[in-house]
Amino acid sequence: MRNSMRLLFTSDLHGNVPHYGRLIAAAGIAKPSIVVLGGDLLPDDNATHPETLGMGQPAFVRGAFRKFIGDLRQRAGVRDVLVIFGNHDWGSSTAAMKELADDSLVQVLTHTASTQVQGVNFTGYSYTPPTPWYVKDFERLDSPGDVPPLIGGARWNLQFNRPVQNSAKIIYDGQMSIEADMKALSPPAEPWVFVAHAPPHESKLDQSFGGQSYGSRSIREAIEVYQPMLSLHGHIHESPRVSGEWCEQIGRTLAVNPGQTTKLLSFALIEIDPAAKRIINREHGQQA
Ligand SMILES: [Zn+2]
Repeated sequence: MRNSMRLLFTSDLHGNVPHYGRLIAAAGIAKPSIVVLGGDLLPDDNATHPETLGMGQPAFVRGAFRKFIGDLRQRAGVRDVLVIFGNHDWGSSTAAMKELADDSLVQVLTHTASTQVQGVNFTGYSYTPPTPWYVKDFERLDSPGDVPPLIGGARWNLQFNRPVQNSAKIIYDGQMSIEADMKALSPPAEPWVFVAHAPPHESKLDQSFGGQSYGSRSIREAIEVYQPMLSLHGHIHESPRVSGEWCEQIGRTLAVNPGQTTKLLSFALIEIDPAAKRIINREHGQQA
């Protein structure tokens, strides 16, 4: 009986069903007690008609994703599955995901309250700075004074139960910035794991093929100020291939972005000693 806790983290599965199979296989070998999914969980919406835009993802959550979570728990013996959303996920999926949470299949992490799982505190943050993509439910300005991008997009409207398209100015002006959210965060007691879809800006974890840093300045500042034991990120799939690193020490925090490809599932395995409040092992893995 080990008293450490093994956590498997992966991100940006984008509804890639073979990846879900690879994750069950990887978890069957590594035997983590917790699996954390770092956002961009669901397939991009291929709707060809405005009436069905944003409806594909909740159907996916209730079908293939629910089955995947059940298999992950039963076949790989995973006790807890923790999720956040990402900028490719529609707000329409939150109600469907809540049904899975109500059935104790997953726990959805938020930044407004921390969740204690197996002796470790978790906080989640699904939002990224503006991207060129159309879905805008999980995007916010990094700082309040940032200039919004030229092109807008659509957000899910709960009242009308459909997406509503708007200019970038209207989309971003009506919301908190990432900076404001991070300032309002109350860090839980250690051991604390911060799960944020966007990686920290100008790190080894946010490097694009084009040489830009696409991470969040405010996420980076939050890590520097609050110093969680571990921070887990995704969003920039290619970063480990560009920077040559999948983790980086930021003060006392081990920050991780395992990266992602479409053919091989990339993941990180982190072993935590909750009583000693420290990380005792870290590995990067890939599953064919
Ligand atoms: Zn993303």
